Amino acid sequence: MAKIAFIGLGNMGGPMAANLVKGQHQVTAFDLTAAALDAAAANGARKAASAAEAVKDAEVVVTMLPQGKHVRAVYENDVLPHVAKGAFLIDCSTIDVDTARHVAALAEKAGLAMVDAPVSGGVGGATAGTLTFMVGGSDAAFAKARPILEKMGKNIVHTGAPGSGQAAKIVNNMILGITMIGVAEGFLMGKRLGLDMKTLFDIVSTSSGSCWAVNNYLPVAGPVPGSPANRDFAPGFTAENMLKDLKLAQQAALSSGASTPMGAEAAHLFNLFVNAGNGGKDFSGIIRMLDGK
Ligand code: NAD
Repeated sequence: MAKIAFIGLGNMGGPMAANLVKGQHQVTAFDLTAAALDAAAANGARKAASAAEAVKDAEVVVTMLPQGKHVRAVYENDVLPHVAKGAFLIDCSTIDVDTARHVAALAEKAGLAMVDAPVSGGVGGATAGTLTFMVGGSDAAFAKARPILEKMGKNIVHTGAPGSGQAAKIVNNMILGITMIGVAEGFLMGKRLGLDMKTLFDIVSTSSGSCWAVNNYLPVAGPVPGSPANRDFAPGFTAENMLKDLKLAQQAALSSGASTPMGAEAAHLFNLFVNAGNGGKDFSGIIRMLDGK
């Protein structure tokens, strides 16, 4: 059992902290929102009055915050100045690679081991404890992180140096954003050409056009019963979060010199979709915009 401080108890952090409690860890929780903190307490965590208080006796600190600016502020103002000597730091937020490297360097300077460990699997995976973690950090830090992360996920992958977890996460999500647009275009064209959607799905899902977007989140109602298209594009994975990840991918492309014209176009199209008031819809709902709706 470890003493774990958990900061950021939102849609993802809430159930992740609950799984650490179930895993017999002693969790001290903090969130700016009282309701999130109360929910964590109801799931067996202790409430802290501030992030600084949460980390002061912790052996492990887990953060699950919205964006890089939040992670940077919490690390610079709360975690690093107040955390106990020898504590181990895990940031599970999805943030830009540059900030991930920056906070990892600050932690190293303070003599603290740290990993970036963004997740895939959504709220369902966070609740079921089946998340995939992409972990950037030294071999020793990865070995330390693994038993903690195993209480919250089932696929724990060491991606390499600090920041590489974030890099892997945004590469994956950029591919997903691009392929979803491609799938939507293809199925819309199929409809105009008079193809039956189920027949087209049966062909594409067993042919070279097959991909995760087709098999799990098909943007057309019917052939994949669990896909958001069957429930008016209720998420799932929101268009807002997809746009956030596509913007992070563009930032990473700029800073690394990678050429990502399709990623840039995907970011542009999701920006239009979100600005039209669809941020809370599932990202597969972009098919409606491409259909002129
Ligand atoms: P969320 O907005 O539901 O939760 C974030 C929480 O952080 C909120 O409760 C907020 O009050 C809290 N917070 C913000 N600033 C804080 C501070 N200074 N101190 C303490 N608490 C603070 O977001 P989420 O959906 O839980 O996502 C968290 C991270 O996980 C994001 O980076 C997101 O991109 C990533 N992610 C989300 C999903 C998903 O499906 N929701 C999937 C994979 C990854």
